[in-house]
Amino acid sequence: MTNKHGDSQDYDREVKSVCPYCGVGCQLSFKIKDDKIKYVEGINGPANENRLCVKGRFGFDYVHHDHRLNHTINQA
Ligand code: SF4
Repeated sequence: MTNKHGDSQDYDREVKSVCPYCGVGCQLSFKIKDDKIKYVEGINGPANENRLCVKGRFGFDYVHHDHRLNHTINQA
């Protein structure tokens, strides 16, 4: 059976933050499920009024990417 409302409420917790990509400073909310970012929503900040550009909305797959360095590979 198709869920006509989608699964946008299917997350464990919310973390409010600021988009890291540029100096506009859009405020956003990370929706977290199983300790991974499931999706991102804009929240009502003075610079963005709930909106996000395409990078701010969809550009967070790098956080959990397999190729992301999570330890030091060269110590001088
Ligand atoms: S959502 Fe877009 S415009 Fe807003 S801070 Fe992030 S990159 Fe900049």
